[in-house]
Amino acid sequence: MSMQIDSGIYVLIIQLKKNTRLKIGKLGTFNFKKGYYLYVGSALKNLSKRLERHKKKKNKNLYWHIDFFLNDMNTEIKDIKIFSPEVFNECELTKKIISIPGAKIKVKSFGASDCKKGCKSHFIFFKEYSANVKEFFSNLNCNFQ
Ligand SMILES: [Zn+2]
Repeated sequence: MSMQIDSGIYVLIIQLKKNTRLKIGKLGTFNFKKGYYLYVGSALKNLSKRLERHKKKKNKNLYWHIDFFLNDMNTEIKDIKIFSPEVFNECELTKKIISIPGAKIKVKSFGASDCKKGCKSHFIFFKEYSANVKEFFSNLNCNFQ
């Protein structure tokens, strides 16, 4: 990753390998179905550090909703898509992802506590990492670095 452009909108594509009940901080405790969860976030600076933090399982303070999810041993980040903040903001991208066939919102407000654009969630469930999802990302100009 370029050192000059260390900011961006990102999507974590996370596999949950089996049905899992998890406490997500103050949001509550939820039953998560196995499948794929797409998390949309942004970093105005230190994007590479943020992504390293997401990948780290151990010795991490659980702060964001996504930390509680990724802390579980049954989750694995399968892919990360990165977009220029000049192309999208995270809410626009979230809305586009929600419109992909098969998208479901399982936990309202997940990752969207600070969202001012009225997103139901920044965390979107897909039963599979389907051709629809892959096609969606290949049609966008992601991984812009
Ligand atoms: Zn939003």
